[in-house]
Amino acid sequence: MNVAASVEATNTPALIGSCPSCGSAALTGIYAQDDIPVSSCLLFDNAQAALQVDRGDIRLSHCEDCGFIFNAAIRQGASEYSERYEETQGFSPTFSSFHTALAKELIERHELRGREVLEIGCGKGEFLLLLSQLGENRCTGIDPSAHPHRIAGIEGAERVKLVPEFFAPELAQKQFDAIICKMTLEHIVPTLDFLRVVRAGIVEGSRPLVFFQIPNALRILSDAAYEDIYYEHCSYFTAGSLVRLFENAGFAPLRVLHQYDDQYLTIEATVGNAPPLDIADDRAEVARLAGSLAKRVAAKQADWAARIDAAVKTGRKVALWGSGSKAVSFLAALPDPAKIEAVFDINPNRQGHSMPGTGHHIVGPKDLTSICPDLVIVMNAVYRDEIARELIDAGIEAEIVAL
Ligand SMILES: [Zn+2]
Repeated sequence: MNVAASVEATNTPALIGSCPSCGSAALTGIYAQDDIPVSSCLLFDNAQAALQVDRGDIRLSHCEDCGFIFNAAIRQGASEYSERYEETQGFSPTFSSFHTALAKELIERHELRGREVLEIGCGKGEFLLLLSQLGENRCTGIDPSAHPHRIAGIEGAERVKLVPEFFAPELAQKQFDAIICKMTLEHIVPTLDFLRVVRAGIVEGSRPLVFFQIPNALRILSDAAYEDIYYEHCSYFTAGSLVRLFENAGFAPLRVLHQYDDQYLTIEATVGNAPPLDIADDRAEVARLAGSLAKRVAAKQADWAARIDAAVKTGRKVALWGSGSKAVSFLAALPDPAKIEAVFDINPNRQGHSMPGTGHHIVGPKDLTSICPDLVIVMNAVYRDEIARELIDAGIEAEIVAL
């Protein structure tokens, strides 16, 4: 064993032995994946740096008591969330219209006009800008990957304060009318502790709207969507386990929805008394799907590998569309990722960088005519139509398939 290997061995953590959402020890291992990049949204300047990305293991555990699923092998702090973290989907017209509709809907239904809004894990601040522009709300966003200068000068930015730090209660000591947390809870290991900190920060006597959005784990389980299982996402909720977590932390859940083609799960909650939320107990279904997940994922991965092999054997160029976490996961599961000719992304901030784990160069729509792919594998079916239009505009006649 060389020095590096022995260091690695001593860093291997013991598996988390109790459920971070309810404390139960009734856990079953359901899915394992070794040596995957721990940071799948980071921008790497070149292939060599991208190949040297730190790696970690996934050992998904299913809690029989609350239905929560989490990576029991997670090393806290292993994933880098910094200014090099580029996750935004804001360059997609499909995503932007969903985001705008969501902001409008929350403003209307909860009368969020001229109010104080906090967003924990605000990313680049796009949602807060919408809440400021559409409802003149005063917004505070906290996120270590925030870039305050990127929104400077944009209409509404004068009411948006971005704090490029990890969330800590002392950063948000104000009475807020709404507390928003989108696509963040799935990155957090101590889920119950985190929710309790958010709860404790709510000023006594106030009843803010609490709105959380996360990936819908029921869809991941049903579709064996292995591209959505990656290192940064250590926590996987269905409606049932999410409601139970909020109740455990002292919130009163008001509404749970599936959105964005079933990919997102959202919860609205508040504090104090509210009628109990009547949702179906999904624990038996989650247990059944969790039990067969590994087998179904293996079959799906073998199918994709065979499909790509067959295309390459007949001289066709295969490209991926989407260079984010889903693509990192998809490439990590391929026996020979070098068979993928190119990885496209419409986010100009990602173009010119390299994919963590495989080093693929990330290119943009302007490179379509020089690369000329024959088969384009779309990482998220939601974007299929807008990608098809990009190909038509570039005069490329490729087969398009979505995960
Ligand atoms: Zn549990």
